[in-house]
Amino acid sequence: MALIVQKFGGTSVGDLDRIRNVAERVARTYDEGNDMVVILSAMSGETDRLLDMAAKITKTPDSREVDALVSTGEQVSVSLMAITLRAMGYKACSMLGGQAEIFTDSSHTRARILDIKASRIKELLEDRNIVIVAGFQGVDEKGDITTLGRGGSDTSAVAVAAALRASRCEIFTDVDGIYTADPNICSKARKLDRISYDEMFEMASLGAKVLQIRSVEFAKKYDVPIHVRSSFSEEDGTMVVYEDANMEKVVVSGVTHNKNEARITLSKVPDRPGIAMQILAPIAEAGIGVDMIIQNTRAGNMTDLTFTVPKSDFDAALEIEKEVAADIGAEDVLGDKNIAKVSVVGVGMRSHSGVASKMFAAMAAEGINILMISTSEIRISCVIEEKYTELAVRALHSAFGLDAEG
Ligand code: ADP
Ligand code: ASP
Ligand code: MG
Repeated sequence: MALIVQKFGGTSVGDLDRIRNVAERVARTYDEGNDMVVILSAMSGETDRLLDMAAKITKTPDSREVDALVSTGEQVSVSLMAITLRAMGYKACSMLGGQAEIFTDSSHTRARILDIKASRIKELLEDRNIVIVAGFQGVDEKGDITTLGRGGSDTSAVAVAAALRASRCEIFTDVDGIYTADPNICSKARKLDRISYDEMFEMASLGAKVLQIRSVEFAKKYDVPIHVRSSFSEEDGTMVVYEDANMEKVVVSGVTHNKNEARITLSKVPDRPGIAMQILAPIAEAGIGVDMIIQNTRAGNMTDLTFTVPKSDFDAALEIEKEVAADIGAEDVLGDKNIAKVSVVGVGMRSHSGVASKMFAAMAAEGINILMISTSEIRISCVIEEKYTELAVRALHSAFGLDAEG
């Protein structure tokens, strides 16, 4: 008998029929004699619907209240699942993040899990209950509800699997595994049988939302193998595991895109020591993460500084920079939301040169202008105009020989 953690995403629990479908799947694994902990997302579209309502009231809703609001989505899906399983004659019990003792810090809307006690989960399992835990949410030391950032149910699942020392952690979603590019925009994308934690981490941080970044970080740290697979088929999906000698020996293993960033430029900034700090420190103090930064020198001891932030923080960041610009005597602050970042990822890049030039050549051949570039040991990213995203992903996928045959 094994302890199995299964997570189902929003599309998988999108309506009552799908909830029933998931319940039957869970029940089958339970009937084989396994202990089952099920982590659920909100029904598809629900988190967005709740966030939109808050946004209609104000552009800057209080983050504690946002968490109280959006966490209701998961409360609905877990209770409906428990009701369904009980109606089918199974012992089942739903749990919110706090009840499951998922303790986080107090950074509302982007909280980090600090500890999971799971004592009630363990008690319920001992009594052969199917335990259904609300993903995406936890509780801080004050007892306030927190959420883990978009896509956070993946992290809930891996963290619960680690805390319970589960023998399997399965992430069920609306695609049948991890592909070389988002299969919804690149029809030639290929499904991978296995991918290393490091590559998946890069792909997730560069926009492949099939797994939340922190779930991959957690999985590597606590040695939890993840199986990403489809809710709608029985086929094996993709295993996320430590890098090993059997992995495909390719330079580039995937292409990702991210439309969730926006860029801000301060132009004609007087160039003097400390200026980058003056521009970027207030952004960090507001808890906004900066991704790429570039600085161009102009004539006359002037400089332009451009950086990217998550689109959801764009309005707040722009407000901050308008004040900064006035303080430091910059001429103008410009914002652009219509950008996207496309990246190529692969651990094989460590030992290969020429990847960047191949990437730039592929973009040039399609007439796509590159606005910003950044690189790491195992990836290269370019910011481009958003309207070219799909074209760029497909072009890069072909250029690096990733296209499926036929
Ligand atoms: P869930 O609601 O199950 O958590 P998500 O929408 O968060 O599902 O993640 C699944 C989606 O991730 C897929 O529908 C797909 O469009 C997207 N995706 C992006 N990149 C990839 C990739 N490389 N492989 C598979 N799916 C990807
Ligand atoms: N419901 C949350 C979201 O839409 C968490 C998740 O689905 O993982 O981001
Ligand atoms: Mg998700």
